[in-house]
Amino acid sequence: MSMQADIIIIGAGVIGLSTAYHLACRKDNLRIVILEKEKFHGAGSTAQCTGGIRYQFTNPVNIQLTKISYPHFLRFAATMQYPIYFRRRGYLLVTGKENRRQELHNIIEQLNRLEVPARLLAPKDIAAAYPFVLTEDLLEGSFCPPDAYADPYGVMEGYYRQCRGLGVQVLCNTEVTGIKVQSNRVAGVLCRHTRQDGRPTEEDTISAPAVINAAGPHLHLLARLAGLALPAAPYRRQVYVCAPMPAIPADIPLIVDLDTGFYMHAEKNGILLLGGTDRDSAPGLETVVDRSRLSNFIESAIGRVPVLEDAQITRIYTGIRSLTPDGLGILGETEINGFYCAGGFGGNGFMHAPAIGLITSCLILGEQPPLDPAPLSPNRFNNAPIAESALF
Ligand SMILES: Cc1cc2nc3c(=O)[nH]c(=O)nc-3n(C[C@H](O)[C@H](O)[C@H](O)COP(=O)(O)OP(=O)(O)OC[C@H]3O[C@@H](n4cnc5c(N)ncnc54)[C@H](O)[C@@H]3O)c2cc1C
Repeated sequence: MSMQADIIIIGAGVIGLSTAYHLACRKDNLRIVILEKEKFHGAGSTAQCTGGIRYQFTNPVNIQLTKISYPHFLRFAATMQYPIYFRRRGYLLVTGKENRRQELHNIIEQLNRLEVPARLLAPKDIAAAYPFVLTEDLLEGSFCPPDAYADPYGVMEGYYRQCRGLGVQVLCNTEVTGIKVQSNRVAGVLCRHTRQDGRPTEEDTISAPAVINAAGPHLHLLARLAGLALPAAPYRRQVYVCAPMPAIPADIPLIVDLDTGFYMHAEKNGILLLGGTDRDSAPGLETVVDRSRLSNFIESAIGRVPVLEDAQITRIYTGIRSLTPDGLGILGETEINGFYCAGGFGGNGFMHAPAIGLITSCLILGEQPPLDPAPLSPNRFNNAPIAESALF
């Protein structure tokens, strides 16, 4: 069987679905096909995402991506007719290191210039507002009240349902196994379906003049199928789920210790999601829980929030994030005409998915995107890019 489409999107995660949605909204009668290797849409890293949305970045491009995405989240439930449990909780970033303190100042100056409410907090203010946080060794913190939380599943599902209503075809159980390139222009993909009995079919061809690689942690592998070496790599992230604790209210901001990476985030029912101490893990797509990480995690957690010594860990799960050397995502057309990449956004691919989908759709349709995507270009890595450093 061979098919013809106008646009093929590889990956039915929040980024692929957002891109399909924006394309379908902007132009009628486009034949858009999303190919997803798993049984269901949204089964990739979107399924493990903890749902944080923040303005607090050092790189202006990331701040702009949040500025573009934020209104989409605000009106999501109404326009997409799907609940996403959006809550303004704020992010509190803290540090005891002088260089990171300068980064916090940089963040707050940039946000205030853009009229995003955000402020620095002295350790005594942090202690007063959040008495469970150990502040003796801290120099400063930064707090941005509009930073928020939303349900990644709801956002992904909202996009999926709208896409279906707009005529986008989503083919699950369909793995892309090759990218067809002719005279440096993309011509389509090769793919294999998995039958009900689990056996793969023969390879099919789907032709299209535009292909978007939105394969999440597999971004670099799909780029390799087209002969491109994209310096994105998959890294495991471990999340520790803890039972609610009376000392930690359910409406706390997402608290990040920038010095260890430790973060703490409370879900609506007070359940705590903790993690962030594994930025130094080796790249790989392995999702097995690494118990050797536990002691370092516990040390960082108790070092900042001592009551966590009594926390009851109910579950540990892992997810994979695609990271780049400069900490910025990859968005745009590659050196192969018509072959686009949208991924490598690490810990901010969910919060920036509305902007990523919108910008990618503008680029493909030849419209002016709401921001200049040059700093995110897949071809930027030979130059000296300006990195993002507020990462955890
Ligand atoms: C533990 C954890 C916490 C996180 N917390 C946050 C957060 O608080 N805020 C935030 O903004 N981001 C967060 N992230 C990051 C966020 O989850 C990702 O950036 C985002 O989900 C990426 O979406 P995606 O659509 O690119 O990837 P995915 O959801 O992984 O989707 C890609 C899809 O491509 C499919 N695919 C891959 N290869 C092929 C192929 N060959 N053929 C067909 N299909 C293929 C996969 O099966 C997958 O479904 C977190 C990530 C993790 C792991």
